[in-house]
Amino acid sequence: MSFLAEGSDISFPVRFVKGVGEVRERALSRLGVRTAEDLLFFFPRRYEDRRNITPFSALTEGSVASVVAEVAAFEKRSSSSSSRRGLEISSVLLSDGRDFIRAVWFNMPRLEGVLTPGTRVALYGKVEVRGGIQLTSPEFEVLDESDPESVGRIVPVYPATAGLSPKWLRRIVSSALELCLSRVCDYIPPEMRRRLGFADLRESILEMHRPRGRESWRRARTRLAFDELFLLQTGLLLRKKRHFAAQKNAPFVRGKPGEKFDAFLRSLPFPLTGAQDRVIREVASDMASETPMNRLLQGDVGSGKTLVAVAALVIAADSGAQTAFMVPTEILAQQHYFRLKEWLAELGIRAELLMGSLSRGERRRVLGAAASGEAGVLVGTHALFGAKVRFKQLGLVVVDEQHRFGVLQKNTLLAKTRAPHVLVMTATPSPRTLPLSIDGDLDVSVLDELPPGRKPVRTVLLRASERQHFARLLAFIRDTARQGHQVYWVCPLIEESEKLDLSAAYSRFQSLKEYLPDLRAALIHGQLPAGEKEAVMRAFAAGETDLLVATSVIEVGVDIPNATAMVIEDASRFGMAQLHQLRGRVGRGGGESHCVLLCGKPTPEGAARLDAMVSSSDGFEIAEMDLRQRGPGEICGVRQHGVTDFRVADLTRDYKLLALARKEAALLLEKDPALENAGPLKDTLMRRLGAALELAGTA
Ligand code: ADP
Ligand code: MG
Repeated sequence: MSFLAEGSDISFPVRFVKGVGEVRERALSRLGVRTAEDLLFFFPRRYEDRRNITPFSALTEGSVASVVAEVAAFEKRSSSSSSRRGLEISSVLLSDGRDFIRAVWFNMPRLEGVLTPGTRVALYGKVEVRGGIQLTSPEFEVLDESDPESVGRIVPVYPATAGLSPKWLRRIVSSALELCLSRVCDYIPPEMRRRLGFADLRESILEMHRPRGRESWRRARTRLAFDELFLLQTGLLLRKKRHFAAQKNAPFVRGKPGEKFDAFLRSLPFPLTGAQDRVIREVASDMASETPMNRLLQGDVGSGKTLVAVAALVIAADSGAQTAFMVPTEILAQQHYFRLKEWLAELGIRAELLMGSLSRGERRRVLGAAASGEAGVLVGTHALFGAKVRFKQLGLVVVDEQHRFGVLQKNTLLAKTRAPHVLVMTATPSPRTLPLSIDGDLDVSVLDELPPGRKPVRTVLLRASERQHFARLLAFIRDTARQGHQVYWVCPLIEESEKLDLSAAYSRFQSLKEYLPDLRAALIHGQLPAGEKEAVMRAFAAGETDLLVATSVIEVGVDIPNATAMVIEDASRFGMAQLHQLRGRVGRGGGESHCVLLCGKPTPEGAARLDAMVSSSDGFEIAEMDLRQRGPGEICGVRQHGVTDFRVADLTRDYKLLALARKEAALLLEKDPALENAGPLKDTLMRRLGAALELAGTA
């Protein structure tokens, strides 16, 4: 092909690749493949390891397996079962040389001519047991022993579409590799590539199509996922810069750590964790910059996010600005307020508390303090959105447990001032926070380190009937209390069955008091008046109560390190993120903590959730499993952006890579604001995302 000079670009139409004609060109374009370059970056959906053939005897029911076999017999019949009446069933007897299994398909009349006895096939599907082992409607591919691409190695399986067979896709990807791979230029600047220890781009592309092994594949995948995220982040930051340049949106208050901040650091009872130190620096630098901070802080339960928020508000106070500290529950608002009040008073900052349930007079006093600027910090629930809430100098908005709030609510608060700094915090990357973190609005910090001495909470699942375990459980609670520790007993409460649930919580409380008369027990739930909630939580925090029976009002934020045990009743009624948050209320001190999950007969999904809770204590891992269980529909907010149709990156698992990509993009743009010295990066960015992000004229 003469037009393809050495070093020329590879974004020519895909029909110039050997083996692609007009019809297939159209089919490929349905898969988003239009150029030879697209084809290089058209990666397998999965792989089949055809180096070693799994013997049929190793197949287990319920698993998804990939096998290579020979067709022994083909049989066609009509379905007799009532649910599948009228279906024509193709049933194929397969042999691996020692054993036989069946594969069945429904209404596929043409199979008979394809799967003739003696044909070798690769199959992929779910293993069921129906009389014997059976694969139901598996994907399959007839193996051609003369085709070296399809046997004896790890075989890539590409996302197929009608009219494109897996074999053919493999073939044309191979021709594209031959034709173009040597012309691919690495668009990640060499210095960055070296510093991050990334694999070479050409090697990575090749590895994705023809993996040599798990480790090398993983390296290649990481590199390519990073590339996608990095390109997107660079594009988004360019767009954001243009946006701010147009609006001249200088922050209301440029903050710089001063005297109060120094005093704050001195007042800490413990050294900062490395992660806290790093994130506080990021926050400080945001607050001193020319655009308002807009940062998402992710950190697992107990990682010490509150401290970062306090550091930010002290920096704001150092420049005379007020902070609104938004939390989702009254219990958490009270906790933060009582902690902050004294601590901040020493630094000369006055904290006030605003909740819906305040008395009129108290409310008037608090609103006055906010409006006059005397209140340096206003901690509060949704009440902060109220129309009467005014500030003198609102410079910082902190949103704790932000997954509990809607975006609109935050915006109501932001409208109360001009261009404040914003810090939102969350324990788990939720489907709701993800879209924000990728649309370029939010910078992301990750607190990926727990304070020293934390031990993972030991979690056990008690499935059997209650009576059998109850005595043991009571003994365990009594023991915990004797050792001077405290216990939460959580009862489910959901809105739909609130009355029933509440009365169940009451009777649980009564029965526990009867069984454990020597313990000091209390009950808390959302319906209690604020004053009572406060009294109950205060007594528990002060160690005056041993056992706190609670609904999920204590789910988020509550921090009482001396509580080391939690029992969660009917645990399968909670979602995974919720269970993780609840469990995060224990394991906050240095000692060993326990969480007991009680459940009757959970659904299969419920049982899987609980097993996952027992096996993992890592919030990111749990969020990931949760998303996977709930399926991709949940993250449609992300999908709609279009620019996030990644080929490699997966936002439910690559959030750490996302943070890295964002940091690197910022670093690069700081050095090279218009990407003039970034080599092929600028071209690649414009080609891939220029139109989607409307970047023309930006860089
Ligand atoms: P979360 O991230 O869940 O909001 P918190 O901010 O409530 O976590 O902190 C959890 C607990 O860890 C608190 O009791 C807090 O005092 C403690 N803590 C925070 N930072 C440190 C640290 N650097 N060293 C020791 N303990 C810390
Ligand atoms: Mg918290």
